[in-house]
Amino acid sequence: MDKRRVLSLRQVLMVSMALNVGLILRLGYVGETWRAEQSLHGFCLQEKSQSRVASTEASSQKVAHVSRLKQVVSIDGTEIEDGGERVINLDHGDPTMYERFWQQMGDKTTVVISGWQYISYFSDVTNLCWFLEPEFAKAVVRLHKLVGNAITEDRYIVVGTGSTQLFQAALYALCPPNASEPMNVVSAAPFYSSYPLMTDFLKSGLYKWAGDAHKFSKDMPYIELVTSPNNPDGSTRQAVVNRSKGILVHDFAYYWPQYTPISFPADHDLMLFTVSKSTGHAGTRIGWALVRDEEVARKMTKFIELNTIGVSKDSQLRAAKILQAVADSCDRVGSPEEVQPFFDYSYILMEKRWKQLRAAVKKSGLFSLPDFPSEFCNFSDRTFESQPAFAWLKCEGEREDCESFLRGHRILTRGGKHFGVCPKYVRISMLERDEMFDLFTERLSEIKS
Ligand code: PMP
Repeated sequence: MDKRRVLSLRQVLMVSMALNVGLILRLGYVGETWRAEQSLHGFCLQEKSQSRVASTEASSQKVAHVSRLKQVVSIDGTEIEDGGERVINLDHGDPTMYERFWQQMGDKTTVVISGWQYISYFSDVTNLCWFLEPEFAKAVVRLHKLVGNAITEDRYIVVGTGSTQLFQAALYALCPPNASEPMNVVSAAPFYSSYPLMTDFLKSGLYKWAGDAHKFSKDMPYIELVTSPNNPDGSTRQAVVNRSKGILVHDFAYYWPQYTPISFPADHDLMLFTVSKSTGHAGTRIGWALVRDEEVARKMTKFIELNTIGVSKDSQLRAAKILQAVADSCDRVGSPEEVQPFFDYSYILMEKRWKQLRAAVKKSGLFSLPDFPSEFCNFSDRTFESQPAFAWLKCEGEREDCESFLRGHRILTRGGKHFGVCPKYVRISMLERDEMFDLFTERLSEIKS
């Protein structure tokens, strides 16, 4: 009897150990998916040998970083206490800073869906994009018209599970099915770190990542990804390759008036948008594409049909409600109801954060930030400098690896090599909750060496 109890205790102990090991490995993995590495050719002038040393260092740091994450980062990626000083995780761009606005909206954006509702696969079989909820499409068109950031006339709307799915659908749709070689996919460095990873993930025969658009010199067909304002450096961008065999995809995740002046309605062949960064509803996983060409829109729809048989209706309805609430808040000039326009709230918050960050950078004296030109915003009637969702911070002086330097001060950022440039730069999310952002600027301002 006793023997059996000892045995079962031992078994419990082993199961618990196995679970713990599993959990630790999983945390490392979660950290990795955010920070998947790839060797990219950057524009910083570096000796080949130097970059080889850097990449060896980077991979050892990667291991060190992952094991460190095991101890200090909780499952949702936020900081926890670690021996006194808190870890500030600004590596990914989780847009939680809008949470307070949506809390203040109370029940205005509550969506109730009964068990019997929206159970069909189909939303509108008469629409080319048959899984597009009409309410969502209406909200998209209304908001673009109100903000003036994109032309919606004579465009097909394709909804996706985030603009991430639409990016992949676009690559599929834009490549000829029978080409002898995969299509080159390029973007000007520094480019969004997920582009190379998403492009090559499935080793498609249709397309392949071909790196920095500035360096693309082949006389071959290509797709250029134009992100404006750009992730990571916030710059306003146009295509750089400009050759006859090129196809453009415009990623406008950040072309909204809290981040940059809206100086014209974008009018391109294929434009991607997302609720993630416009309203902060990253978890709803809804994006949309405005597509000029019917055949391209049809192929994108086909991709999503084969990938996920459509897009969650529940999410589309929630996104529709949110977009309508944003439009209502901005449309309600002179109305007695006290609702702060969403783009006022978010603009003022971004403005405050950029001032705070620039003051901290000045106080420390070890870093620099890009400057942006002042432009007139047709939506807000303000003239202002871009206040991007990410800060592109440079370590000045001799310091080569800014990411590990900041990690030494318990600030987690994403280093330049992920974006195709040198490690003197890091990308820092400006979209965290107030408490974390305040802690970050306070700590940054105190860094002296
Ligand atoms: N494009 C850019 C430039 C982004 O920064 C992001 C989000 N980080 C996305 C696309 C993906 O957005 P979504 O959450 O809609 O998939």
